[in-house]
Amino acid sequence: MQRRGFLARGAALARTSPLRARSGKTKAEARSEWSVRTGRDVVYARSGGTCEVRVLGVCEGLAAEWQHRKARAQGGEWNPANGLHVCSACHRWIHHNPAEATAAGWTVPRDQDPAAVPVEDYPNWGRVLLDDHGVIHIVQKGQTT
Ligand SMILES: [Zn+2]
Repeated sequence: MQRRGFLARGAALARTSPLRARSGKTKAEARSEWSVRTGRDVVYARSGGTCEVRVLGVCEGLAAEWQHRKARAQGGEWNPANGLHVCSACHRWIHHNPAEATAAGWTVPRDQDPAAVPVEDYPNWGRVLLDDHGVIHIVQKGQTT
């Protein structure tokens, strides 16, 4: 870059290239950019291949399936905050025990954002929020951000 002398006080830097176009996407639109593959890559790295639900007396340990916290039919996407890597037995348990699964944060109602709904007892971590980067955030009771 060529230097062209000092800027006068209060002068703005001249922009030589346009700002990257802001797409103006809503959160939902940004989430929909996740594919099965890209979402799974992040979630499976987060889980390390171990079930992220671990229902006592049910869990098989090894994760093998993706649990949509918000179902696809309810607008849920493949973004990592919406996924849990689960074993087949916990996955079945979740679908057979919808009220308990919702209370645990393993399923998320249509009108709520999975990134803002805690998982109440994530293995080894306790109460956490999941984000779309594969990061696990420990949160206190009543805290949602
Ligand atoms: Zn399990």
